[in-house]
Amino acid sequence: MRVLYVSTELHPALKTGGLADVNAGLPPALRAQGADVRLLLPAFPALRAAAQAPRRRIALGAMLGCPDVGLLPCRLGAVPTWLIDAPAYYDRPGNPYLDASGADWPDNPLRFALLGAVAARFADGGIGRWRPHVVHGHDWHAGLAPAYLAARGGARPASVFTVHNLSYQGHFAAESFDDLGLPAHFFAIDGVEYHGGVNFMKAGLHFADRITTVSPTYAAEIQTADYGCGMEGVLHARAGALLGILNGIDTRVWDPAQDPALAAPFTRAAPAGKRACRAALLAAAGLAGDAAGPVLGVVSRLTAQKGLDLLRAAVAPLLAADGRVVLLGSGDAGEEAAWQALARAHPGTVAVRVGYDETYAHRIFAGADAVAVPSRFEPCGLTQMYAMLYGALPLVRRTGGLADTVSDGPDGTGFVFDAAELPALQAALARLLQSWAEPARWQAMQARAMGADFGWARAARRYLALYRELRPQADPPPTPA
Ligand code: ADP
Repeated sequence: MRVLYVSTELHPALKTGGLADVNAGLPPALRAQGADVRLLLPAFPALRAAAQAPRRRIALGAMLGCPDVGLLPCRLGAVPTWLIDAPAYYDRPGNPYLDASGADWPDNPLRFALLGAVAARFADGGIGRWRPHVVHGHDWHAGLAPAYLAARGGARPASVFTVHNLSYQGHFAAESFDDLGLPAHFFAIDGVEYHGGVNFMKAGLHFADRITTVSPTYAAEIQTADYGCGMEGVLHARAGALLGILNGIDTRVWDPAQDPALAAPFTRAAPAGKRACRAALLAAAGLAGDAAGPVLGVVSRLTAQKGLDLLRAAVAPLLAADGRVVLLGSGDAGEEAAWQALARAHPGTVAVRVGYDETYAHRIFAGADAVAVPSRFEPCGLTQMYAMLYGALPLVRRTGGLADTVSDGPDGTGFVFDAAELPALQAALARLLQSWAEPARWQAMQARAMGADFGWARAARRYLALYRELRPQADPPPTPA
């Protein structure tokens, strides 16, 4: 089974969110189960720097307004990769999607159309003499890959499109359609058009043979107006082609028994090292060390999605119980400032670091007793899983992947609330504090949480089954010898 895996980020070289972690974890898990999965990524500077020795350059000529496009075959991690060498589009510093001021690059339609168009060029087997059975694109950046494949007609690889976050859609002015090289009739409701513009997410949802998203609950939610971000109609219409497959996490990177970032290793059977991690975290955060209450950690983008404004308003009882809050995050300037103000108001008990810091993130999961993820929506969410494996009990809203990974109640692994409102969060936090006051109960929850199996093997089996369903339809001729 040959699968071209088309995306934009890859941990650790280039990461803006959980997508990078997924892209680092899923392809190796698929390869371990026998699939010949190869990555196709833009040659952003950070990816190019991380690539092991591109051996040569395959020239593709001019494409979509870029004068000289090429492919660099290389390896990233253990996975064979093609980087799309298009300096005019991809050789820019910083965030892959935004300029230094945080605005979309004006040529984003062409930059990401190129990713989809190059993916489709693999369809005829002319690149590296390798023809995929399945082209699997991820999020709006790869949304045009299924459209370009559909435009080829005839026998072609099957397409799978995975939604990691429906709220980022790649929506552009109608005029950008003229430069995309797609058939004119694709600019239609039954195509890439959405409210008068070109929408890359819609293109993926419309043209892909199968759509997946990253948890079963999110798959159901996005067919409703509350969570569908305007795509609920398209998704509802395609419900028969839509499947939720819960993400895994990379247990090679997230393993408290052998995590070089930690003050001491620990395991479910031998959890004592977590005490040293807790003390080290409080010291590193500049907080008073002798906390009788729980240490609540947060590692998150600071956007409205994540519901951390609610948490800010709810922490007083935790602090009154001699708890601590340690937050690491960045995002909306207003939310950053509000958290910094909270830290100033509570010196010694609330620590806030604005920024992005992988090592500190590991230390927070290891040192915290609980981790809050009060998201308004959460396609899958990874941090609640990292927290559980590191013995920190998750406090989460019942939505998306949070609902699918955290259980509440007598045999629970965390604390779950329903409404995205302050009283619901306050009630869950009160239950957390009650449980904390009963150490035997807390430790039993911790042991259950640490025993969860979040490895990628389970998800990889589901994706492989999906690819196998599609393979007959892809019907490719054999790869030339
Ligand atoms: P999303 O993709 O919506 O941001 P996820 O929970 O799926 O949310 O993934 C977030 C990933 O980014 C996790 O690996 C988390 O540890 C990491 N992360 C988020 N913010 C930071 C930060 N400020 N510093 C370090 N890692 C972060």
